[in-house]
Amino acid sequence: MGLFGKGVARICAVVAASSAREMAAQLRHALRETPTVELRLDWLAKDSERRSFLSWLRRNRPRRAVLLATCRRRQGGGLFAGSVQAELHWLSQAAEAGCLWCDLEIETLRKLPRNLIRHHSLPRHILLSVHDFRRMPPLNPAIGARWRDEVDAIKLAGEAPTIADSVRLLRFAAGLRDCVAVPMGEVGLPARLLALREGSALAYAPVASATAPGQVSLQEMKHLYRAHALNRHTQVFGVIGDPIAHSLSPLLHNTAFIARKINAVYLPFLVHNLRDFLKSAPDFGLRGFSVTLPHKQAILRHLQDCDALSAEIGAVNTVVVRRDGSLYGCNTDYVGVLRALEKKLPLPKSRVLILGAGGAARAAAFALSRAGAGVYICARRENAARELARAVGGEVVPRHTLRTQSFDAILNATPIGMYPHSAISPLAPGELHCRIVMDLIYRPERTKLLKLAARKRIATVSGVEMFLAQGIAQWELWMKRSAPERSMRRAVLTALREEERRRSSP
Ligand code: NAP
Repeated sequence: MGLFGKGVARICAVVAASSAREMAAQLRHALRETPTVELRLDWLAKDSERRSFLSWLRRNRPRRAVLLATCRRRQGGGLFAGSVQAELHWLSQAAEAGCLWCDLEIETLRKLPRNLIRHHSLPRHILLSVHDFRRMPPLNPAIGARWRDEVDAIKLAGEAPTIADSVRLLRFAAGLRDCVAVPMGEVGLPARLLALREGSALAYAPVASATAPGQVSLQEMKHLYRAHALNRHTQVFGVIGDPIAHSLSPLLHNTAFIARKINAVYLPFLVHNLRDFLKSAPDFGLRGFSVTLPHKQAILRHLQDCDALSAEIGAVNTVVVRRDGSLYGCNTDYVGVLRALEKKLPLPKSRVLILGAGGAARAAAFALSRAGAGVYICARRENAARELARAVGGEVVPRHTLRTQSFDAILNATPIGMYPHSAISPLAPGELHCRIVMDLIYRPERTKLLKLAARKRIATVSGVEMFLAQGIAQWELWMKRSAPERSMRRAVLTALREEERRRSSP
C-alpha cells in the first residue's frame, strides 16, 4: 500500500477556489470521488476566507479523508502573497482543522533553519514540493536530500517541453522512495495520466473543470482515463496532433474500452515534433495511435508499411504498432465517408460534388470513386481541384456553374462554417441542387450549410457520422472485435451538445 492508500485514494483531488463557500462545495464534491484531497489555501482571496474555510472544516471534519493543505507562496508558483511565517501559520491552522499532510515548497524550506520544521505544529506529514513552471526540475538524485529526514515524501513537478522529458521525469521519480511525479503542460499529459502506473505516489486532478492545457478534471482522470486502475497489462493507445486539446477521440475510444471492460487506455499526445513522439512511443508501450492534423501526410515517411489505398491517398489516420515495434498505417477517414454516406444513398453511379481539395476531400474522393460514384471537385485553387480530379478519374466543377448543376450528394470538405464561424455556409441556398448534403465539420453538429439544406427539404448528414465511423473502424482494427457503437455515439453526441450548450449560454 502506498503512502496515501491504494486504488482511487492515489488520485488527489485539487480543491481550489477564491471563497470559503466554494472551497467547501468543491471539497464535498471531491470526497464523493476520492478520499485524498489537496486544499489550496493560497487560492482563497483573503485571510478572512481562509479563516472561515478552516473553521468550517474544523466543524465538518470529513471522516476517513486524507487532507493535504497547501498555502504556496508566489515565489513558489502559488497565489499566497504573505510571508513564510504567514504560510506556516495557515498550515498549522490546517493541522488543527484535521489536515494530516501539508505541502511545503522548496523555496520555503530554504528559508527555514535546519531541523526546525517540526517545531511549527504543522500537519503530521510533510510533502516537499519542487516545481518548475517553465522547464523540467533538475533530475539530480541529491534533490531534496538536505531535508529527507524531515519530510515524508517529495513531489517533482516540471513543465515537459518534449514527450521524452516527461518520460524521463517518470523514470527518475520511480527510482526514488515516496515520490510524486507531475509532468506538467499539455505535452506532459500522457505521462501524467500514466504516472500512477509508473510508481508515482499520487496523481493530481482539479475538481473544477480543467483550466489549463495539460490538466484533466478529476472526473476525467478517474472515470475516463481510470489512472488509478492502469497497470502493466494495460494496452496503451493514443492520438497524435497539434492542436489536440479539443479532440473527442479520447472520449470515443476510452468509452468503448470501458463499455467492453477492456484493460486499455487511449491518451491525447500533443505532438509538435514527430521524431520526439516516435522516439518515446516504445516507453509508453503504445499498441496503436490515431493521427490527426498536421501529421497525416508526414507520418507516412516513418511507417514500415501501409495499405495500398493510404499510399494512394497520401495520408494515414491510423497506425498499428506491430509486435516487433514496426508501424503499419491505414486510413479510416476513407471508411468514415463511405459508412456515413452509403446509409442514405446507393453510391454506384451517383454524382457526388466535393467542396475542397485538402486532406479530407482527398480521402472522400478516393472512397467515393472506388465505390463507383462519379466524383466532382470544386475548390478555390483550381490547380488543387484539377490534380485531385485527375487522381480519382473525376471532373472539376467551377463554382459559378453550381447554380445550374445538380448532384446526388454535395459534401463539404472545407473548414468553412466550423466553430467559431458557425454563422457562415460555404454554399448559398441557390447552389444546393441535390438529394443529400453532408458536412464533414462536426463542430457545430448542425452547421449553417446543413440548416440551409434542411430548409430546402434536402436530407443531411453531419460530420459526426464520419467522425464516429472512422473512430469505430480504428477501434475495430486495433481490438479485432466489434465496437460498442451505441455507447460511443452517445458519449460523443452528449459531449458535443454539452459544448454547444455552454457556448450559447452567456
Ligand atoms: P485541409 O487539408 O486544410 O483542407 C481544407 C480545404 O478547404 C482546402 O482545399 C482549402 O483550400 C479549403 N479551404 C479552406 N478555407 C477555405 C475558404 N475560406 N474558402 C474556400 N476554400 C477553403 O483540411 P482537411 O483535413 O481536409 O479538413 C477539412 C474539414 O474537414 C475540416 O473542417 C475538418 O474538421 C473536417 N474533417 C472532418 C472529419 C470527420 O471525421 N468528420 C475528418 C477529417 C476532417 P486551400 O488549399 O486553398 O487552402
